[in-house]
Amino acid sequence: MAEPVRIQPDLKFVKELQDVGGESLKKCYQCATCSVACPLSPAENPYPRKEMLWAQWGLKDRLLNDIDVWLCHNCGTCSDLCPRGAKPGDLLGALRNMVYRKLVAPTVIGEWMSSSKHLPKLIAIPALLYLFIWWLSTGLTIPEGPIEYGKLFPGDFTIDPIFGAVFLFVCACFAGGVLKLVKSFQDLPQTFAVGVKAPPKPTLVACLIDVVKDEIATHAKFNQCGKDNSERFTGHLTLFYGFAALAIVTSVVAVAHWGGKILPFLTPMGHTPMHLTNPVKILANVGAVLLLTGLIYLTRRRMNADPAKSASNYYDWYLLGVIWAVALTGAFSELLRLAGIPTLAYPVYYLHLVAVFMLFAYLPWSKLGHLVYRTTALVYARYSGRLPLAHPEEKTFSV
Ligand code: SF4
Ligand code: SF4
Repeated sequence: MAEPVRIQPDLKFVKELQDVGGESLKKCYQCATCSVACPLSPAENPYPRKEMLWAQWGLKDRLLNDIDVWLCHNCGTCSDLCPRGAKPGDLLGALRNMVYRKLVAPTVIGEWMSSSKHLPKLIAIPALLYLFIWWLSTGLTIPEGPIEYGKLFPGDFTIDPIFGAVFLFVCACFAGGVLKLVKSFQDLPQTFAVGVKAPPKPTLVACLIDVVKDEIATHAKFNQCGKDNSERFTGHLTLFYGFAALAIVTSVVAVAHWGGKILPFLTPMGHTPMHLTNPVKILANVGAVLLLTGLIYLTRRRMNADPAKSASNYYDWYLLGVIWAVALTGAFSELLRLAGIPTLAYPVYYLHLVAVFMLFAYLPWSKLGHLVYRTTALVYARYSGRLPLAHPEEKTFSV
């Protein structure tokens, strides 16, 4: 006879999980409606019913190492249909939040991001840094003459070195986080295909291409949900392309500016402020409009959500708030510069730098980190056979 297995529930973990968005998990009575209803869950070892059970039992290690937590796109279908109002979709979201918080050091940043009482510390780091630079450059005064933000924050000596260091820091944190995450996916749920010859194992590159085509570029999974997800789909997709446009603009300006020191013909492309008809400026403004449009959709959706089906927590609002701050201060920096109002333009630009720092420097611990972590999990799920390729013809692509 098999030895009985003694389960050691981690009650502190259950409490923590309830605090970050899984407060209704105790209501679950294991009817499995959620696993049947989920349009994305594999037929074998489906989620999220098993996660609800593990959460009630306090099986911390199983939950934090569970790849299925990352396959959920938080469409809310399961929460809508749960007869007990246990909000299984929210539980999976809460688990992802817990992973963001603790995956990479310094984990204190993740802790600060999960409670409003720590917000002043997160703001104070960039606020004091840029105030110090402002004080060094003009003694905290507003410069005379045409508005040029480089007068307060010289690009070569302040903006570029600071954001260059932030970029390297964030890349190093993500690299560590990705390795740790993949290592944690060791005990994968099995996906069998009875009576079907197992397809050959796809390459990692084929899996990555599949994820980009099927999930990232089109957000196609959002439309596979059983309920109307159009507001969420439109919001996410426009926000994604807004960020993509702004990332291209930033890269072009940086490469042209620094590359221009060696190849002078590049310099004009990196010279700011740019004329409104400059193609790089046009792309920047298109990116800003997409960002604001996506924010309106996603904020409206959160505000109109039925709290009995899905609850927004501080982690959700923190990210939306920071992106709003980046978008609004960026737009007003440009408008106030064009209107020639230096007494407002310079302070707003200072706030813009603070918001941009908060968005990027804390990225590996924020919900936006899903861009990297969820992509990793989706690629690994295909590579390991937990999910099939959506475009199997790509599997012939070799590494
Ligand atoms: S979360 Fe709801 S739908 Fe899912 S098993 Fe529990 S009670 Fe049933
Ligand atoms: S939120 Fe949507 S994708 Fe996630 S488990 Fe529920 S039904 Fe599935």
